[in-house]
Amino acid sequence: MKNILEMNINEMAGMEFDCSCGRHHKLDIQHIAIGKGVLPEILPMAAPFKGKKILMVSDDNTFAAAGQKTFDLLKKEGHIVKSFVFKTGKEMLIPDEKALGRLFMEMEPNTALIVAVGSGSINDMCKYMSARTGVPYIIVCTAPSMDGYASDGAPMICNGFKISFVAKLAYGIVGDTDIMKDAPMRMIQAGFGDVLGKATALAEWKMARELVGEYYCDTIVQLVEKALKKAIDNAAGLAVRDEMAIQYLIEALTLTGVAMGLCGVSRPASGAEHMLSHYWEMYYIAHNRFPEFHGIKVGIATPIICQVFELLADKIPAEAMASCPSRQQMEELLKMAGAPVLPTDIGIERALFRESLIGAWKVRSRYSVLQLAVEKERINEIADIITERIYG
Ligand SMILES: [Zn+2]
Ligand SMILES: [Zn+2]
Repeated sequence: MKNILEMNINEMAGMEFDCSCGRHHKLDIQHIAIGKGVLPEILPMAAPFKGKKILMVSDDNTFAAAGQKTFDLLKKEGHIVKSFVFKTGKEMLIPDEKALGRLFMEMEPNTALIVAVGSGSINDMCKYMSARTGVPYIIVCTAPSMDGYASDGAPMICNGFKISFVAKLAYGIVGDTDIMKDAPMRMIQAGFGDVLGKATALAEWKMARELVGEYYCDTIVQLVEKALKKAIDNAAGLAVRDEMAIQYLIEALTLTGVAMGLCGVSRPASGAEHMLSHYWEMYYIAHNRFPEFHGIKVGIATPIICQVFELLADKIPAEAMASCPSRQQMEELLKMAGAPVLPTDIGIERALFRESLIGAWKVRSRYSVLQLAVEKERINEIADIITERIYG
């Protein structure tokens, strides 16, 4: 078998191997098709479900982007497909109990396959429904906006709170760059922000290995670093919707999902930058404000976490420190992609910002650079320096 580091992402579906980290890695995604014009690849994926009921889910935006085409392909092939379209107009679909309840009402008995056409919310709801019913789902990605296509987590809003459910992995992923390059620019920028966050997440994983002896997999780290580098090297192309730049972006996003699936932890995808993002998001939801796309917040949080690393450099093991990029580099990349750079760009107030730096380490129980700053009694000083830099 080929070494995973030399594999094309489409070859990774269903793979398993014994790794030098001591674990047996296995990926429970049966099909991955990412590239230009790959939408018809859904047909061989759906072939085993011929003669059975398929439920296709989209919203007004994603139906126009890819739903109609997907429906026509499946129909022409002789599949029994029911199409349900959320009537969202230009609004964003919120994955809450109302939307999810509606989906369950639309699902007929003996449905054998769910085809989700969309990005964040539709993917999360179909993933959740798939986990609860045991019906497999295929995701047709419409935007390179986050890394959840290949992950098993399904964040949902319940009773006004964000809850992260563990769901299951997709049976198949179809990522056609012809479709995704036309996604709203803000969603492309969000995907890039989520990818940049991997840089600090990986540095932090190295730090946690050294300081608290956490499980670590060098193969997975190399895999994500390689994908991250390709996406970063092509960042300038994103602002003009260059097809290769979009391709490397969706590959990096899918690959981080694959990496999480392989090692069974989200370390390769999420560190302190995600904690800051979640802190802001919970505050926004609690105050009935639009929480912004996930990746936009993660992108803004990434150079801030780089600065935390820099300010705490004397306490961080050399290898981890060396793998953390500089704040300037991350800010320049965000600018290059046309994405928001500062917390003030998305309306985060001074008090919330300072409070988030001090409190975000409690968002989840995972050793982070923020926790290290708390333990070394440096967090207040660091929060003051960064807040002063941004807010004056
Ligand atoms: Zn490993
Ligand atoms: Zn993320």
